Amino acid sequence: MKNSAVQKVNTGHYVGGEWQHADSNSMIDVEDPRTGKIIAQVSDTFHDQWSQALKSALKADFPYRKSSIGERVQLLDETVRLIEESRDDLAQIISAESGKALSEADAEVNYGVGFFQTYSSVIQSERDESTRALTGEYEMLAVQEAVGPALLITPWNFPFAMVARKVAAALAAGCVSILKPAAQTPLTAAFVVDLLHEAGAPKGTVAYLPTSNAGKLSEFFLAEPRIRKVSFTGSTGVGRVLNGLASKNFQAVSMELGGNAPFLVLPSADIDKAVEGAMVAKFRNSGQACVAANRIIVHSAVADEFVEKLRVQVGKMNLSFEGREPDMGPMISQTQLDNFQELVDKSKEEGGQVIAGGNCVEGPGYFFEPTVVTGLDRNATIWQEEIFGPLAGVFVADSIDEMIEWANDTEYGLAAYAYSNDLSEVTLLQESIDSGMLAINRPIVADARAPFGGVKFSGFGREGGNFGLDDYRVTKYVTKLV
Ligand code: NAP
Repeated sequence: MKNSAVQKVNTGHYVGGEWQHADSNSMIDVEDPRTGKIIAQVSDTFHDQWSQALKSALKADFPYRKSSIGERVQLLDETVRLIEESRDDLAQIISAESGKALSEADAEVNYGVGFFQTYSSVIQSERDESTRALTGEYEMLAVQEAVGPALLITPWNFPFAMVARKVAAALAAGCVSILKPAAQTPLTAAFVVDLLHEAGAPKGTVAYLPTSNAGKLSEFFLAEPRIRKVSFTGSTGVGRVLNGLASKNFQAVSMELGGNAPFLVLPSADIDKAVEGAMVAKFRNSGQACVAANRIIVHSAVADEFVEKLRVQVGKMNLSFEGREPDMGPMISQTQLDNFQELVDKSKEEGGQVIAGGNCVEGPGYFFEPTVVTGLDRNATIWQEEIFGPLAGVFVADSIDEMIEWANDTEYGLAAYAYSNDLSEVTLLQESIDSGMLAINRPIVADARAPFGGVKFSGFGREGGNFGLDDYRVTKYVTKLV
């Protein structure tokens, strides 16, 4: 049966305020990872469409920069209204192309719409800073201005939230934007762009360019000095390439990259709550999240209890979409599934004991059993690398100092989690963990009002709250003798 929400999505690309179809024989296939079947084909853009988008963005740039706060607020608020009105369709589309369960897609709608709401409220409450010289002779003003046309590149794991996080900030700051969604999940982005169109986004303020030539697209736009910003969410490897390209024209850069989150369970923790938290931090989105718990580090005093309780909970997880919502959806693609099976096999070769799961699920779609591996040390591949799948690796440490040292023993620094009921431990963790985000006794860090972002190889820049707007703005200093 065809998914009626997916049928509503425009399969073209969007440039200059209009939907068009690339004049090309090639289309991008979009699969439903729950079945492995193709559910749509979208326009595959190339040079001609990129040139048009560039022209139209540059034309829209200065008029949109000069738009009033009131006009931007109206656009953001109307987008919120339209998202709320079509939230069921939006959740269906997210679920269809990313494979996640509807409950998770729903949660993503809540998170994503929060960026439009937050930025609308932030720009309404801001004031420019002004002061007078010490002598009183002249006035000094610090004005926040749009950085300029922005290239936005998003991944497939949160197809709505990652788009919302960037587009809402760019629009609020007064930047026109060129959005390139992940080739595996272009439908959600197209649906959102359609809502922006309906909400009255002025011509050229947003372009939507699905493509099978991501590398060439970024080279094209970043070779143009009038593109003033690139905001990227994705792997550290691609981030490094984009950072290099942007450096040639001194374009502003925001990088939300990979993670290798530690999840610490201290002896004072409530173990049931820690297990409950680990289930969410690890298996949400089938472990395909940059903030997913990658290394579960448990104090030896509570390790046996924690591991046994985790094993039992993992054993209860339902993966079937038959009759009711599953506790965990599939992986995004056959390639991702194959790579993941290799990683699990490698963990076994390295001496890990698989105490739950460990295998692909027979049948259609890209499902893998939720898996728990114990008995590995810091030389293991799953310690060094981002897992990006439903594998919980549990490592046992003998002291809190060791747990902190281990937590920081990674080139990444995005999210970290810790469970503890001791205030002095919590303070120590807050001061010692080297990451952009830290969640204590909670398995989720994301909130549209909070600054999301990393340190070290997890990138730089912040998205969310008033912090997120700074990434799309420059401060102009004006001095006046009046
Ligand atoms: P990816 O391969 O880096 O792809 C992300 C986006 O970059 C996609 O739109 C992709 O396009 C595009 N891309 C690929 N090569 C490119 C190039 N040479 N130039 C410009 N764009 C290019 O990452 P992924 O596998 O989709 O996502 C997983 C990674 O993203 C993980 O490392 C995860 O941790 C990270 N992530 C980070 C955050 C965060 O906020 N820190 C959030 C989510 C995900 P195609 O789809 O066409 O390949």
